[in-house]
Amino acid sequence: MSQNTQQKIDRLVMNTYARNPVTFVEGQGCRLKDETGKSYLDFLAGIAVCNLGHAHPGVAQAICNQALKLTHVSNLYYTEPQARVAELLVANSFADQVFFCNSGAEANEGALKLARLWGKEKLGGAFTVITMQGSFHGRTLATLAATGQVKIQKGYDPLLSEFRHVPFGDLAALEKVWDERVCAVLMEPVLGEGGVLTPPPDFLKGVRELCDRRGALLIFDEIQTGLGRTGRLFAHEHFGVVPDVMTLAKALANGLPAGAILASQPAASLFGIGAHASTFGAGPVVMAAAAVVLETLTAPGFMGRVQETGAYFRAKLGELAEKYPQVVKGVRGLGLMLGLELALPGAPLVKQLLQMGFVVNCTQETVLRFLPPLVVSQSEIDALIGALGQVLAQVPGA
Ligand SMILES: *Cc1c(COP(=O)(O)O)cnc(C)c1O
Repeated sequence: MSQNTQQKIDRLVMNTYARNPVTFVEGQGCRLKDETGKSYLDFLAGIAVCNLGHAHPGVAQAICNQALKLTHVSNLYYTEPQARVAELLVANSFADQVFFCNSGAEANEGALKLARLWGKEKLGGAFTVITMQGSFHGRTLATLAATGQVKIQKGYDPLLSEFRHVPFGDLAALEKVWDERVCAVLMEPVLGEGGVLTPPPDFLKGVRELCDRRGALLIFDEIQTGLGRTGRLFAHEHFGVVPDVMTLAKALANGLPAGAILASQPAASLFGIGAHASTFGAGPVVMAAAAVVLETLTAPGFMGRVQETGAYFRAKLGELAEKYPQVVKGVRGLGLMLGLELALPGAPLVKQLLQMGFVVNCTQETVLRFLPPLVVSQSEIDALIGALGQVLAQVPGA
């Protein structure tokens, strides 16, 4: 059965993913099961998507109820779940208004369009956006040009040319490339695909100050860092810095496709009637799921638990780093967005861990990345740490 599934997909679906040879059929919390019945602990959550875990009963119930009631009518009309989610996002963030779409790249595209309007309206036609080297903002033509990684851009030139990439954390470099053409800075508060890199102290504050001085928009891409991943509802809360615009997606509907652009005034009202649109944006089923996600994440005690679990996980990874200094170069990240920097390629370790029943990921070749559901328990972390210890012990020279 599995071979059939895997063969069909390999033959019939365009070959853009290096898939692992596992066919998952069901999940529950942090557990996944493949079609042979083998059980796995999930430390990836569908790449920071299933933050409440798999088959979350509240989310599943909301999806079923809404699907039986009303699935789609378009944004030419009002629907109730959209109102609920807009209210929850605005009540729990800096934003005054929201625009809904269906994915991260789409949210960033919209934010870039908003930056263009801002440049025209406020900065005499400025259109350049500064982004970070090593960043990831999506795969559409605009967002891959914004992305600071050549491998993502290869083959797609000529790229949109209005982006300038500076080293993450280098305020002087940012100031140096700034001229009257700049209308915005777009950045992740913590680089995700770029290797789970946290910013140096006061970098975000410095960027905020520069944007204020120049009248440019500060746009935070919190598609990966947002929605509880780092132990706060939004990662920028750790740094005491508030953006003008923020993009969300991944975990917003715990697995259904959802994206959002949040903005404060006056930026938000630059999107007037006809300025932007999405047929599927804020569909009732997706919004019903998102409402449960936001209600759960903002319930008293939830973020405190994420912080505690994150600290525990980080300490355990630190013990492994001390035990295997030849193999592990360091631990980094925030909350439950953690990375283990290795002195060697991580892909073989990911493969071994998968065989042992642990789903983890590797980014930037040498950084093992952990993005478990936020409901992961200490005993589940202990199980992973045990397996990881075995795998690290087997590395030659460990
Ligand atoms: C995943 C991701 C995106 C792209 O999201 P898609 O839904 O895959 O388009 C953009 N920015 C960041 C920081 C991401 O992690």
